Amino acid sequence: MSSFLRSLSRRQADSGIAPLRVRSCRDLCEWTRTPVQRRGEQMFACRGCGSQWVPSEHWTPRDASGAIPPAVLEIVKGED
Ligand SMILES: [Zn+2]
Repeated sequence: MSSFLRSLSRRQADSGIAPLRVRSCRDLCEWTRTPVQRRGEQMFACRGCGSQWVPSEHWTPRDASGAIPPAVLEIVKGED
């Protein structure tokens, strides 16, 4: 696990349920599944801009390439 994910995980544990961070994604965006659960949902985070996402959000994260990350696509499709 990267240090990025470790620090993210620790921050969430300390602050309980914090509001999601949502920023405009830029060219560096790369979404990744985190070990963090938020209200029972798997949380994802963007390594490029620091945004966070859970499946109940009404938008879909995209990588810098414009593609929906496979792990996210799996969840989004599963809800149809
Ligand atoms: Zn981003």
